[in-house]
Amino acid sequence: MNPFVYARPDALPEAVRLGATGRAAFLAGGTNLVDLMKENVARPAEVVDINRLALRDIVEIDGGGLRIGALVTNADTAYDERVRRRYPLLCSAILAGASPQLRNAATNGGNLNQRTRCYYFYDVQTPCNKREPGQGCGAIGGANRIHAILGASPQCIATHPSDMCVALAALEAVVRVTGPQGERTIPFEDYHRLPGNEPWKDNTLAPGELVTAIDLPPEGFAAHHTYLKLRDRLSYAFALVSVAVGMRVEEGRVADLRIALGGVAHKPWRRPQAEAAMRGQAPSRELFEAAAQGLLEGAMGQGDNDFKIPLARRAIVRALSQAAAGTPQSQTDKRIA
Ligand SMILES: Cc1cc2nc3c(=O)[nH]c(=O)nc-3n(C[C@H](O)[C@H](O)[C@H](O)COP(=O)(O)OP(=O)(O)OC[C@H]3O[C@@H](n4cnc5c(N)ncnc54)[C@H](O)[C@@H]3O)c2cc1C
Ligand code: SF4
Repeated sequence: MNPFVYARPDALPEAVRLGATGRAAFLAGGTNLVDLMKENVARPAEVVDINRLALRDIVEIDGGGLRIGALVTNADTAYDERVRRRYPLLCSAILAGASPQLRNAATNGGNLNQRTRCYYFYDVQTPCNKREPGQGCGAIGGANRIHAILGASPQCIATHPSDMCVALAALEAVVRVTGPQGERTIPFEDYHRLPGNEPWKDNTLAPGELVTAIDLPPEGFAAHHTYLKLRDRLSYAFALVSVAVGMRVEEGRVADLRIALGGVAHKPWRRPQAEAAMRGQAPSRELFEAAAQGLLEGAMGQGDNDFKIPLARRAIVRALSQAAAGTPQSQTDKRIA
């Protein structure tokens, strides 16, 4: 691990000032950053510990949504009574992730900003454009079982590993940030980015910007939702493919619908056209298969991960069936119904 300067500010303006050097990293729960520092993947000159900031509340917002502080832990978010009742899709996705111990330490801001789980990114002996721009990509033509089938680039085929973010994408949450230029909000769709020619940029945060909260809109799709996660090991593992669905059913027809995929791209994957084509229709297997087709149009395997395309197709159909029936995937009994 490289030497670094450690600071633990008491207030947001000070944290932003310390974080604005371009060489600093914010430390929240540390479940990802500390691992990356121990492996020399992350080498910040300054570590700004944000744990004393007042970002640990979940509060009601005007118009009916909830604002979840960046330092609320994943566990406290998932077990908050209001979140459970109004946003069970978000609870389910959080509880599908990591382990109870990790969720007790991991924060919401950290979850959004966790780095990819690409093997080459973590192994400093191998080339990786995300870790060292211009080095090349070890995963292209290498071991790429966990990698992207959508939205990849010739520079990087990594996936975003979060479960929580897949639900936040489906809920169309809004990320609140504060930085050297002041406060702003970022629609969830615009928060994470595809790798393109700058795969080292995971998201659209400007240097020194800090996530302060996540706003959940009033519609939580509590009656018809599911988070279906497929992984190598049920006890705990990152998603190979996951599907978050929020659906509103009125008079036997799909009145509103959101579908987001995890484990398939550099960001939670949505195709609003595929959702639009389902609105006003009666739920049916044929409709779900057409939606899967639309969501996966252009999907391309890299060899080891070719299996993800048919797996994702089946997972989308199953998740839509679960949501339409109002029988969401259980995260305790993890068998798929
Ligand atoms: C063994 C293991 C299994 C896991 N399995 C899963 C899983 O199945 N599903 C899943 O979704 N996740 C999984 N995780 C990842 C885990 O969810 C993340 O490590 C965690 O959410 C990160 O939160 P943290 O508070 O610990 O972040 P930290 O480690 O403190 O920070 C992570 C990154 O976010 C940045 N950051 C932190 N807070 C902010 C903020 N407020 N604003 C801007 N930047 C910030 C940091 O600078 C750093 O770059 C797993 C982790 C481990 C170790
Ligand atoms: S897929 Fe991305 S993160 Fe993985 S080795 Fe290639 S450039 Fe690095």
